[in-house]
Amino acid sequence: MGATDRTRGASKIDKFETGHDVALSLRPDVPVYCFRPAVLAADAKAFMERFPGKTAYAVKTNSEHFVLKALVDAGISAFDVASPGEFAAVRAVSKDAELLYMHPVKAQSDIRLALETYGVREMSLDHEDEIAKILRIVRALDLDPTSMTLFVRLQTKGSAAYELSKKFGAAPAHAVELLQRIERLGFKVGIAFHVGSQIGDPKIYERALASADWVRNRAAVPLTALDVGGGFPAAYGIDPRRGEPQMPELPDLMAELRREIEEWEFSDLPLIAEPGRVIVARSLSVIVRVLLKKGRRLYINDGIWGSLSDSWTGKITLPARLILDPARRRRSGSADKLVPFKVCGATCDSVDILSRPFWLPETADTGDWVEIGHIGAYSLSLRSRFNGFYPDTFVEVATPFEEEEGPQAFAAIETMAD
Ligand SMILES: *Cc1c(COP(=O)(O)O)cnc(C)c1O
Repeated sequence: MGATDRTRGASKIDKFETGHDVALSLRPDVPVYCFRPAVLAADAKAFMERFPGKTAYAVKTNSEHFVLKALVDAGISAFDVASPGEFAAVRAVSKDAELLYMHPVKAQSDIRLALETYGVREMSLDHEDEIAKILRIVRALDLDPTSMTLFVRLQTKGSAAYELSKKFGAAPAHAVELLQRIERLGFKVGIAFHVGSQIGDPKIYERALASADWVRNRAAVPLTALDVGGGFPAAYGIDPRRGEPQMPELPDLMAELRREIEEWEFSDLPLIAEPGRVIVARSLSVIVRVLLKKGRRLYINDGIWGSLSDSWTGKITLPARLILDPARRRRSGSADKLVPFKVCGATCDSVDILSRPFWLPETADTGDWVEIGHIGAYSLSLRSRFNGFYPDTFVEVATPFEEEEGPQAFAAIETMAD
């Protein structure tokens, strides 16, 4: 794979028209990530145009250098960060991007680093002891508290594909106390919530806004901003047996969110959103190779410890496409018939088997490639070096995955028996 370099800094990246071209010209034995910069720019701009406030990209979704750089180029100037590694990743692409440190539970040393070295002036919290930690550093550095906004993260309840509210967030009455304490100490005061990821029901934002309204009225302190978090759903694959997924489209969801913001009288307040998945999911695919076909099992060169960790993708139908190896002359089965294959990962670990079947043409065989689409969010960011495998080859592709030729296959949500 000498021809394809890492997409870091000055290193060169090979460009192709389609994923099909990538597979056939490189004939890769290692997983290859296909980055589609035009798709990323389009999805980032679509979000920014529709959200009536500041867009702070959630860096944990995908913190690759070239992704962050493309986002800055697309006009994103604020980033939701949670760790020193993320502060540095953003600074490496932009000297003046705004960093919002929205992890409610922070190490004292990281708070100092954020304030002293990275110029962070916005942080979230959900407990009084976190206020004490922040105050200690603010005083040690002799910072003016009025230069900082502290956001109280509210507890939310709802039906996201991935619930995060069980872990963080203050109950409403507690949030009221926190807001008042922050104000007494001289900080600017904000309210934040994060409803989870890949949310399916727009009403979830309404419930969060109703709760924010209750807290605001009880606290009766001047507010500087409202941060509505992330959770906006990305487009994924279609399982023809289930039909189109019942996910709200971004324009509809945004229209609903704007209506609710208006109704709960938050529209005069500066707003912030922290989208992750909805911005990056579509911008990357991964081309994996079938190392061996054994009956209805496919052994591939990636897996749950690589870019297909089921913790984030198991509840989502991923689009996929089979790319036949022209070197294989004889094939059995029908090219038009999709059948479920059990997919086994590259490591020797017996848990490295994907929990859901890949529905691919029956002709799939050893040596073929599968391009798995829309894996830009929470997949390559979760890959590990387990067993010595670490997918890290990148190319650029011009055509959006869903516009490429060839029958659409998919990785279904259901689990399969042996
Ligand atoms: C993970 C996270 C996000 C991004 O969530 P998406 O579902 O990817 O939009 C935003 N805000 C916070 C606080 C997060 O933890």
